[in-house]
Amino acid sequence: MGQRALIVGLGIAGMAAAIGLRRAGWTPVIVERAPQRRTGGYFLGLFPEGREAAAELGIIEYLHTRNPSADVDTWSLDRRGNRGPGVGFLDQPGQPAAVLRGDVEAALWQAIDGVEVRFGTVPEEITQDRAGVTVLLRDTVGGTEYRETFNLVVGADGLRSTVRRLVFGPHEEFMTNWNAMICAFQLPAQAPTFAEQESVISAQAGRAVWIFGLSDRTPTTLLTYRTKDVDAEFAVPTAERLRTVFAGMDDPAVRHALDCLENAPEHLFDSVHQVRMPRWSQGRVVLIGDAAWCLNLYSGLGATSALKGGAALATALMDHPGDVTAALGAWEARLRPFITKEQRLTHIKRHLFVPSNRVTETIRTLGIRLINAKARRAAAKTRAPQPVTTGRR
Ligand SMILES: Cc1cc2nc3c(=O)[nH]c(=O)nc-3n(C[C@H](O)[C@H](O)[C@H](O)COP(=O)(O)OP(=O)(O)OC[C@H]3O[C@@H](n4cnc5c(N)ncnc54)[C@H](O)[C@@H]3O)c2cc1C
Repeated sequence: MGQRALIVGLGIAGMAAAIGLRRAGWTPVIVERAPQRRTGGYFLGLFPEGREAAAELGIIEYLHTRNPSADVDTWSLDRRGNRGPGVGFLDQPGQPAAVLRGDVEAALWQAIDGVEVRFGTVPEEITQDRAGVTVLLRDTVGGTEYRETFNLVVGADGLRSTVRRLVFGPHEEFMTNWNAMICAFQLPAQAPTFAEQESVISAQAGRAVWIFGLSDRTPTTLLTYRTKDVDAEFAVPTAERLRTVFAGMDDPAVRHALDCLENAPEHLFDSVHQVRMPRWSQGRVVLIGDAAWCLNLYSGLGATSALKGGAALATALMDHPGDVTAALGAWEARLRPFITKEQRLTHIKRHLFVPSNRVTETIRTLGIRLINAKARRAAAKTRAPQPVTTGRR
């Protein structure tokens, strides 16, 4: 029998790893804590490197994208609620593709057709010796436990990874606290007075609301804010807490997002962290995606890096057949510089999402004006009549 790998987590990283492993001739088995595959999710921008990795993994043809039409506006709201031209997430260099997390997962799901997936299953213990990695797995529905041995275990179980805790150490050792919160969900309708596909940003010192317009469905929203005490944020119902945090920000985007949250069928409410680890593998256990390096949402590159990780795993395993340690070493050496650079840049990017104070708020506003003035000048230049040249002098 060929080499078998256990992948813990059926998210973007887990499925990307499954494709990579299968491509390298391995047999992946995925266990997922949830009872079924999740769908939908929040807005994601996929940057060129993510699209390249998606192409390498063979999922581009299945990937549904939702970029608004080119002539649709992004608005920035000032402290009085007045709108002006804004610079949206999709205006960043690289022309990110607008998708929902569920769109990427749906594309990966199609590509892992035939891979064994066990829902409602979690790892309880992981031990390794020269023969392989033995995992005690628990079926959370039936309550049964069983041991199984694999040639490799891939922890793709997200920010609060159980594989990381069992093999590498407690969460506190690796999760840095950014003293910030996020709440993301799908809006049932666009904010009043804005056109359907428009995006809207209302950002003030310490708190911000983003509405992401999409081409073929209602927008999604992200509320994010700074906090001194992350644990206290979970002590009250989310909608109640957010009304307190955003009190006084009385513009149509904020009002709409807060009203919709009350009745949202589901939302993601969580604290913001970055995962920093000196090594992503230990023997035959490796972490990938948020479990290993969570860049966090302010980077806009979590999904991109998870796809890159899966694609690079295939190459590394193929380059080092029969030598897992060498393959994992080469894989990490290839990815580490990109992740380190982006982890640093995220400290700057977070001010674009939510400025930390009045000074960064002003700098952000001036920056947006500058970018817009530059864009207007460039557009005027393209519209200006071009001098006519003839071949003869
Ligand atoms: C609001 C928001 C906006 C974002 N925007 C962007 C963006 O614009 N661009 C971008 O590239 N990235 C973005 N990201 C980041 C991106 O979504 C993540 O980095 C990416 O989805 C991480 O995927 P993952 O597979 O590593 O982890 P996850 O998505 O967390 O998946 C982990 C999986 O493991 C399962 N699991 C957990 N524990 C266990 C267990 N013990 N046993 C079995 N299964 C388990 C979970 O149920 C889940 O299915 C954003 C994130 C957020 C929150």
